[in-house]
Amino acid sequence: MLTDYHIHLQPDGPEARAENASRWQEHGGHLSEGWIGTYVARARSRGVAEIAFTEHVHRFSHAREWHPNPWWQGEATEDVDLYCQSLAAARVAGAPILIGVEMDWLPHRVDEIRAFLADRPFDIVLGSVHWLADHAVDHPEYLAWDSLDAEEVWERYLDELVAAAQSGLFDVLAHIDLPKVFGHVPPASARDRWPQVIAQIAQTGVAIECSTAGLRKPVGEMYPQTDLLAQCAAAGIPVTLASDAHRPEDVAADYPTAVSVLQGAGYTHLTRFMQRVPSAHLIAEWG
Ligand SMILES: [Zn+2]
Ligand SMILES: [Zn+2]
Repeated sequence: MLTDYHIHLQPDGPEARAENASRWQEHGGHLSEGWIGTYVARARSRGVAEIAFTEHVHRFSHAREWHPNPWWQGEATEDVDLYCQSLAAARVAGAPILIGVEMDWLPHRVDEIRAFLADRPFDIVLGSVHWLADHAVDHPEYLAWDSLDAEEVWERYLDELVAAAQSGLFDVLAHIDLPKVFGHVPPASARDRWPQVIAQIAQTGVAIECSTAGLRKPVGEMYPQTDLLAQCAAAGIPVTLASDAHRPEDVAADYPTAVSVLQGAGYTHLTRFMQRVPSAHLIAEWG
């Protein structure tokens, strides 16, 4: 049995959602059992038995004031409790899904993040470093690359990644080498630092994800790149499989590649979560 533990119900940004709205509206909305079912059906067609919906925290009105960025605040229109209830209802109706969230690492919002997570029935919480203060790592309109040099972007990014791991707030660190998304090659200073960063992550017990999303981005490679994945395996860091799909078609995208990369890196087990409790399962059992 394979899993996909990083899935969004809608694309990012109002324009993309408006363009695609008819797709979920014909099922009764993006939180309807019918729309959720299209993701489940795609997962099953690709041999994936369990998926986690992990909506961005910036989609929820509860988090609107957490970040001053106008795009963030404009995105924060959804009711997180309705989201959780809708997923729970779909699960009761038979959908093999986990209730998750993709939580931004915002170091000045640790108390708010902790309270947000404690109050809700999440099975899995992804931790993502998308922001370096006001600079975005992967949002094309607010890119850190426009005002910081490559050394500084990576230095600050890796500082935040380690801080996110050490916060204890997250079950899985998402897309751990995200600054490469637009094809910027990591500078030597970042490459030299990875062994230390991986050792620091390993000490915390948090998992990382092996994500196929980068294959669909300008960089054209998985997160993390294969040698980093092998270092994570050697350090004993648990791993999940993920597509970061923002539409049903991308659920479990490129999984044959992902499974062979994962095994080539030395991983023998995948991590499952239930009510935020991890368990390890042989990949071979699931193939
Ligand atoms: Zn992300
Ligand atoms: Zn995501």
